[in-house]
Amino acid sequence: MKVNVKRLQRDFDNIAQFGQLANGGVTRLAFSQADLQARTYLKQVMVELKLEVYIDAFGNMRGRREGQLSLPPVVIGSHLDTVPDGGHYDGVVGLIGALEVIRVLNNNKIITPRPIEIINFSCEESSRFRAGTLGSKVLIGKITKEALKQLADKDGISLYEALEKSGFNPEDIDNSRIYPGEIFAFIEMHIEQGPVLEQEKHHVGIVTAIAAPTRYKVIIEGRADHSGNTPMYMRKDALTAASELILGVEEIAKNQAGEKTVGTVGYIYAQPGAMNVVPGRVELGIDIRDINMEDKKSAVGKVIKLISDIQERREIIINYEQLSDEEPVVLSEKVIKTIEEEAKTQNLSYKIMPSGAGHDAMYMANVTDVGMIFIPSIGGVSHNINEYSRMEDVAKGTELLLGATLKLTQEECDS
Ligand SMILES: [Zn+2]
Repeated sequence: MKVNVKRLQRDFDNIAQFGQLANGGVTRLAFSQADLQARTYLKQVMVELKLEVYIDAFGNMRGRREGQLSLPPVVIGSHLDTVPDGGHYDGVVGLIGALEVIRVLNNNKIITPRPIEIINFSCEESSRFRAGTLGSKVLIGKITKEALKQLADKDGISLYEALEKSGFNPEDIDNSRIYPGEIFAFIEMHIEQGPVLEQEKHHVGIVTAIAAPTRYKVIIEGRADHSGNTPMYMRKDALTAASELILGVEEIAKNQAGEKTVGTVGYIYAQPGAMNVVPGRVELGIDIRDINMEDKKSAVGKVIKLISDIQERREIIINYEQLSDEEPVVLSEKVIKTIEEEAKTQNLSYKIMPSGAGHDAMYMANVTDVGMIFIPSIGGVSHNINEYSRMEDVAKGTELLLGATLKLTQEECDS
């Protein structure tokens, strides 16, 4: 029983057409025409593979392959939507892998004990509506109808309207919910979006936990002054204060927090932004992540302390607002073990690792046992037109996905 690289490549190439850019990248925003075209393709392939297709009120698409028993299914899949000017691998590899798993089972006429379902989550990327992993949040009841009306894209189109326009039924999202016990296990195969697997030459990663960010928007209020006539000791330079904070975040994440803590100041706006003016106001964003809540809390505490130190010492005002503070999610020991045993059987070189990025898998963990398989990202590049993973690696990951899925479909079936 073998995964076929050519078939994976064919599905990949077919999906890549939707939203393809001249520069080689892809823009397939949630519920855009390109996204809807990709969904239509996915549905068509699901039907060809004799899956029973079900699309919920939020557009989440599930294709079901019945098993010998009417037990909760093993679910595999990911997402088709992308960021603007994104790459072709983020999300897509999880779906082409899932389709190939079904194809191999069909070709070998295998009926698994438990059913298997493929899922495509709607609106995983936050690019269009400034909120991500919405499909899985709808499934676990974390999104209300009212929220659909409040979330809007840059043209003012609400998520509610976008859903209606796409032929879905936002009024009915409460009926899309999945409850604990309805799914036996969920595995998402995804690109790593970081450089570790390639650098350490592993075939795949097996994810143990998903780090969630704590984010702050920080406004530093100094005073804009003439850069020639204001002596150094009289200045309230917001940008030099910001520099201290930025280096401090790096130092704290690197040397004063947990082993896996990462801290980033990803943007900064300095005003007024002129060569001859001492910067009077700076806005910046801090993003701190860890898979260990205690380590993250400790890092965040140190950053807050640093902010008040800088404020006092430089006699300026620093306001900060917490934008998010989510809990890291630990994935299922049972599923991790199943994937790891299968990786050993297949002689794969694997790394047990955390995910620094959020995925639908973290919300699915509220209702079922969840695991993730990572495929090496060449150069660690993602959310970028240069995002690339080798199809041989995708095939290895798919082989692992197939083996682990088969094992899970056989578990706890005797009753
Ligand atoms: Zn993704």
